[in-house]
Amino acid sequence: MSRLFLRTLRDDPADAEVPSHKLLVRAGYVRRVAPGIYSWLPLGLKVLAKVEKVIREEMESIGSQEVRFPALLPREPYEASGRWTEYGPNVFRVKDRKGNDMMLGPTHEEFFTLLVKDLYSSYKDLPLSLYQIQTKYRDEARPRAGILRGREFIMKDSYSFDIDDAGLEASYQAHREAYVRIFDRLGFEYVIVRAQSGAMGGSASEEFLAVSETGEDTFVRSAGGYAANVEAVTTVVPDAIPYGEAPASHAEQTPDTPTIDSLVAHLDEAFPRADRPWHAADTLKNVLVMLRNPDGTREPLAIGLPGDREVDAKRLEAVVSPAEVEPFDDKEFAAHPGLVKGYIGPGALGTEGETGIRYLLDPRVVDGSRWVTGANEQGSHVLDLVAGRDFTADGTIEAAEVRAGDPAPDGSGPLELARGIEMGHIFQLGRKYADALDLKVLDQNGKLVTVTMGSYGVGVSRAVAAVAEYAHDDLGLVWPKELSPFDVHLIVAGKDETVVAGAEQVYDELIGAGLEVLYDDRLGKVSPGVKFKDAELIGVPTIVVVGKGFVDGVVEVKDRASGERQDVPLADLLATLRD
Ligand code: ATP
Ligand code: MG
Repeated sequence: MSRLFLRTLRDDPADAEVPSHKLLVRAGYVRRVAPGIYSWLPLGLKVLAKVEKVIREEMESIGSQEVRFPALLPREPYEASGRWTEYGPNVFRVKDRKGNDMMLGPTHEEFFTLLVKDLYSSYKDLPLSLYQIQTKYRDEARPRAGILRGREFIMKDSYSFDIDDAGLEASYQAHREAYVRIFDRLGFEYVIVRAQSGAMGGSASEEFLAVSETGEDTFVRSAGGYAANVEAVTTVVPDAIPYGEAPASHAEQTPDTPTIDSLVAHLDEAFPRADRPWHAADTLKNVLVMLRNPDGTREPLAIGLPGDREVDAKRLEAVVSPAEVEPFDDKEFAAHPGLVKGYIGPGALGTEGETGIRYLLDPRVVDGSRWVTGANEQGSHVLDLVAGRDFTADGTIEAAEVRAGDPAPDGSGPLELARGIEMGHIFQLGRKYADALDLKVLDQNGKLVTVTMGSYGVGVSRAVAAVAEYAHDDLGLVWPKELSPFDVHLIVAGKDETVVAGAEQVYDELIGAGLEVLYDDRLGKVSPGVKFKDAELIGVPTIVVVGKGFVDGVVEVKDRASGERQDVPLADLLATLRD
């Protein structure tokens, strides 16, 4: 440690919010260069290499072969797949000196497809699985939490190539099992969740989420075993309601009721119900957003949903992707005089309606359901407005928040919500990229068939931070054995010649036994107290202290996680460490 390129810090970095970010910077594992861009220092690089080792071993175990692509990539293949435009502002684009467009790769489907097309031509060459551990670039809107969400980060991405659907299914399952082993070895508490709603395209896709309160992903699970990313949850749609008996709709004066709460209070006062008080869920709220398409064009969208629910930004982003969601601000209201802010109703909406704004409804707004909603007039609402009878929309949208207690779509009980960090994503791509880039091989009958693909990602740099999210305590990091930068943190506690010589001897012995040892040999001004603090912060799971006891042939072995210490005779040290 007298030579190690390391300065531990006593204070948390000012921009850090989550424990992993604070501790990885304080303990000298990473260092910020710019928002979402980090350098790896010697300790961090060692942990990173250990994560990579676990991943390599498990990828090799399913017969995947390692390759490495460049990060600097030409435009044309992204053009062919449509992603040059679709990525919008989320990628880094550069030009070379001749003015050619290039991209810093955010992921590599196109290039693996082209490489296989380049070299392979027969069903006999398949199945094939290739992977790389490589640097990716994404201009994230919200780089966050240190290396958890970087703009430059390291990903393991792999791609499977099969001749038919059964082959893809087998490749997918093999990857899934490899991922289970990877995340077991990394020590995560994780869940495997559905990542895509069946409604949206159907192909199988699952995410591995490390369960963590600091995670950005919300997922749901039911006691009956349903688990999904919140974006993938589909609403259980109530049956349509016969509305033969429903009274005709009527507009009423509801002054000063621009919010749902104020409206419900006013309804109870001015239009009390006989059976029960009014609920927010009796009102139909119409929320406007602007969608920005990848080509830069913008269009408004109106979403109608029960007044007791908010629009969930992530669910909305997922369904409108690749378009991006922007707020519908006062300037937009000024540009759409047909909309009365706070009193917007279905009457003004829909491509057939007065404003021509596309109008999509939450699936709970079934035909025959009866609503209180805006009358498109300042201080006025309509009551007894019946869906299907008095208004229709351009379709439905899965954008309302999912709440604890909502029913699981597969009938397996009420949902509970939790948070996680997306660690891995496996995806049956099917023929999308093979079609776009014309990857075909000859089948048994000499006929050209399109190859079917899967793509599979693990956040390698993110994993270092995600492990640190659980592997720490108040004093610092506490690495699991498999990922720790060193096996043993050896401290010489004392300046006495015998003690120092003893520590050197122990060091040689441990190194000789094949252990990786971080040796705190600092003398001079560094007190034992400082050494212990650093050892706790750095988080090597086993700490060996050579101090005064050495004259009696005894060293101290301390377990970083439990804090337990024991005096061990020198002769038993290796055996104790192996245990
Ligand atoms: P997220 O939803 O977190 O933005 P994503 O769905 O865009 O991730 P994928 O395209 O599925 O990510 O990438 C595969 C894996 O790469 C993810 O599961 C995640 O572990 C990792 N990853 C993605 N974006 C980042 C990032 N900005 N920083 C670090 N790791 C990332
Ligand atoms: Mg993903």
